[in-house]
Amino acid sequence: MATIFTKIIRKEIPADIIYQDDHVTAFRDINPQAPVHVLIVPNKEIPTVNDIDVQDEELVGKMFTAAKKIAATEGVAENGYRLLINCNRDGGQEVFHLHMHLFAGRPLGPMILRR
Ligand code: AMP
Repeated sequence: MATIFTKIIRKEIPADIIYQDDHVTAFRDINPQAPVHVLIVPNKEIPTVNDIDVQDEELVGKMFTAAKKIAATEGVAENGYRLLINCNRDGGQEVFHLHMHLFAGRPLGPMILRR
């Protein structure tokens, strides 16, 4: 069940970690899709949104709190940003450790669903 994100959280492989606490780790995406592209990851291994339990509700809230802090420290809170979570094949999920994308740094345009 462990993915590359667990290795990043444990600092077993390098990543540009910009935030970490006992519950959440955030690092820059290796293939950024916007000037600011950060992944916000629970330290607990939860594969997908489908695997979130009631007991995880506080942890999921901490992902949003981390997103808000990161937006502020990255200087994008005022202009705005987009938070996105992919789930499973049709959602385009590639890494099966729950993560929230934070995109910012330019006008992101409308949401586009590509065929
Ligand atoms: P998703 O498609 O939602 O599963 O997104 C996975 C994201 O993880 C992609 O945007 C990848 O570029 C990113 N990614 C994969 N490996 C790494 C890595 N080692 N360090 C940082 N980001 C990564």
